[in-house]
Amino acid sequence: MKFVADGMLGSLSRWLRMMGHDVEYSTAFDDAELLALAKEEGRVLLTRDLELYQRSTARGIDAFYVEGKNEADRLAAIAGRFGIGLEIDLKSSRCPRCNTMIQPVPKAQIVDKVEKKTFAHYNEFWECPKCGKVYWQGAHWPKIRSTLEEASTRLKNSASV
Ligand SMILES: [Zn+2]
Repeated sequence: MKFVADGMLGSLSRWLRMMGHDVEYSTAFDDAELLALAKEEGRVLLTRDLELYQRSTARGIDAFYVEGKNEADRLAAIAGRFGIGLEIDLKSSRCPRCNTMIQPVPKAQIVDKVEKKTFAHYNEFWECPKCGKVYWQGAHWPKIRSTLEEASTRLKNSASV
């Protein structure tokens, strides 16, 4: 899916990019730019600003008012509304930093780009062709999975109410 997120939603933007969605995000966008991007590029506006949400829907621009106290809450709400999967498959992930599709990269090519320990421990790596950031399913991965599982549980619970 294609989204544009307001300046308060940096973390959520990074999550959605990792989940493979195209998310425009910059703290430099003002309200008019957010609305224009949503309208011109067919993006759903994600916002924590109720007034902006109301302005958007009044103009027929699809928007989602983001509540929830943590990322699991927010991801569950977005998944419920838009029917998106709560999973990350690096084959279809976008760079959380710059929104470009990341690509698998042979291990030999990133030897100088990661720490020796990381290089020794992992065999699968991905790289962003635009900003050059290298990704792997490292020590942070269990935490990512548990947040997604928490979000799935919330979504199931909310659906059964
Ligand atoms: Zn990047």
